Amino acid sequence: MNLDTAINKMKSKGYKHTKQRERILEIFSRQDQYIAAKTILKEIQKDFPGVSFDTVYRNLYLLADEEILESTDLDGEKHFRFHCDTHGHHHHFICTDCGKTKAVEFCPMEKIESSLSGYAIDNHKFEIYGKCPQCQT
Ligand SMILES: [Zn+2]
Ligand SMILES: [Zn+2]
Ligand SMILES: [Zn+2]
Repeated sequence: MNLDTAINKMKSKGYKHTKQRERILEIFSRQDQYIAAKTILKEIQKDFPGVSFDTVYRNLYLLADEEILESTDLDGEKHFRFHCDTHGHHHHFICTDCGKTKAVEFCPMEKIESSLSGYAIDNHKFEIYGKCPQCQT
C-alpha cells in the first residue's frame, strides 16, 4: 500500500477527502512498521492542534475497516501500519526492537481447527515476535 493507492481507495469508496486523513496516511507511508495510535495522535496534533483523540481514533479504525491499515495490540496498546501488498489472508512477524514487520503467507488455522471440532470459529489472531536480522547484529 502506498499513499496514492490509499487515497484513491478511499475516494472510490465515496469517502470525503480530508486533510487530516491525508496527513495520517502520509505518516504511515513514510514508516513501514507498526506505529502506536498515541504516536499518530501526537503527530497529527502538531498540524491540527485542536484535533481530538476520538477523531483520530475513528479515522484509524475506519482506515483499518477499509483494509488500508492493519492493526494489532502491542504492549497493551493499539498499533497500526499500512496494509501489506500481500494479497489475501496473511500473518506477521513483528520485530520487538524496531517494529518492522514481515508478512508470512501461511496460516496455522487449518492445523488448529481439527483440535476445535464442534466450536464455531469467528476470527483468529496469530503473530510471531522476535528480532529481525538487522536488529540481531
Ligand atoms: Zn500485513
Ligand atoms: Zn528489527
Ligand atoms: Zn490466519
